[in-house]
Amino acid sequence: MRDSQSIAIIGTGPAALMTADVLSQSTHRVSIFEKRKGLGRKLLIAGSSGLNITNDLPVEEFKRHYSGPPELWNQVLGGFSPQDWIQFIETLGSPTFKGTSGRYFVQDMKASGLLQKWKQRLDQRKVEFYFDHECVDFETSHTSPRITLSFEGGKKMQFDAVYFALGGGSYEPKEDPLRWPALFIRKEIDFSPFTPSNVGFRVDWKANFLKEAEGLPIKNIELSSPRGVRRGEIVITNYGMEGTPVYFVGQTGEVRLDLKPDLSIGQMIAKCRSVRENLSPIRRVKRQLNLSEAALALLFHEAPQSCLGDLEKLCQLIKSFPLLFIGKQPLVEAISSAGGINLNEINTKFMLKKFPGIFIGGEMLDWDAPTGGFLIQGCVSQGFAVGSSILSYLQE
Ligand SMILES: Cc1cc2nc3c(=O)[nH]c(=O)nc-3n(C[C@H](O)[C@H](O)[C@H](O)COP(=O)(O)OP(=O)(O)OC[C@H]3O[C@@H](n4cnc5c(N)ncnc54)[C@H](O)[C@@H]3O)c2cc1C
Repeated sequence: MRDSQSIAIIGTGPAALMTADVLSQSTHRVSIFEKRKGLGRKLLIAGSSGLNITNDLPVEEFKRHYSGPPELWNQVLGGFSPQDWIQFIETLGSPTFKGTSGRYFVQDMKASGLLQKWKQRLDQRKVEFYFDHECVDFETSHTSPRITLSFEGGKKMQFDAVYFALGGGSYEPKEDPLRWPALFIRKEIDFSPFTPSNVGFRVDWKANFLKEAEGLPIKNIELSSPRGVRRGEIVITNYGMEGTPVYFVGQTGEVRLDLKPDLSIGQMIAKCRSVRENLSPIRRVKRQLNLSEAALALLFHEAPQSCLGDLEKLCQLIKSFPLLFIGKQPLVEAISSAGGINLNEINTKFMLKKFPGIFIGGEMLDWDAPTGGFLIQGCVSQGFAVGSSILSYLQE
């Protein structure tokens, strides 16, 4: 064992940066390679709609949001918990806050400040960044423990340990598709093709409804599907619907929308009947139930006309409006992806069983989680675990 060995980290997402942070506190030489001109593209994109870093759920409940073996999540979230992550960000100098839904955000909602501070710290610790460096191959040999990496353009470099954190399949530009899956498939590493997850759904809206509601939110609703019930906000789009409760549904088929989750049907009927004037049922609903513009448009244009003149039927619809999700939006519009490198290909240290010294983590592995901060948390917790695994591997 040598005191200072060389480690390559490929990728600059949260999984990669967290591993770099752990390793940069050792005597080893750490180099990070990124195919793009700057770091953390997907984090920057995530920050454009408010960077949700984690969630305040108790850790036992938190873990249940991930696919894959529970032992894996016990291990990584036990080693680097949501509280550890919040404290880490605060220590970097980026304040955080908890939203009403229990989700944590960085105070400025964007990723750029956090990334800038993180890079500054890694620079100070002498981590070397190489941008415009796409890793296109790796080779191991029986005669040397060193790993050779090849980069686009022909450059080759050798390292004592390598960590790939190349990200998942979502939101990749069509003109620059992900090339890493082919590399791992060539090495006979089991890879499940990416499919969209945490993604909007298509709904066959009527033109008159869209004219009034396209782009509008409907806040504080509950969406029920075979997967369960989720409360939150949805947004009507020209193709269908977006929003956290929509992403949770995960599959096509019928869903039910509760536009007034805090009122029972009886309470709604009583409120509407309390109007003395001689108003039609739909006008009573409009006056008494404080429904948003888009929710009212949904009732006017998408409900069966026979319901509009019947207060009871109308209130039943408000509690349980049937909608048909006819298809998922494509991978390029998804927040995350299902699929990736099969978890059976790595050991409990995140090292490839077939290639000792090569570690894999983050969204490129085949696990998934809903939105709500679980994705980034999963990546940084894995990144932390990989950092410790590489340190013990180099000590062996
Ligand atoms: C619109 C959107 C909103 C989101 N919002 C949230 C949110 O609020 N909260 C949340 O928890 N999650 C959110 N996510 C998901 C989150 O951003 C990802 O789960 C996370 O960034 C994955 O981290 P990672 O480190 O595994 O990979 P990535 O962040 O994808 O990083 C992988 C890096 O590897 C580089 N790379 C790939 N191949 C090569 C190669 N061959 N050589 C060199 N470099 C390479 C890529 O350029 C990239 O920089 C959002 C995602 C999207 C698309």
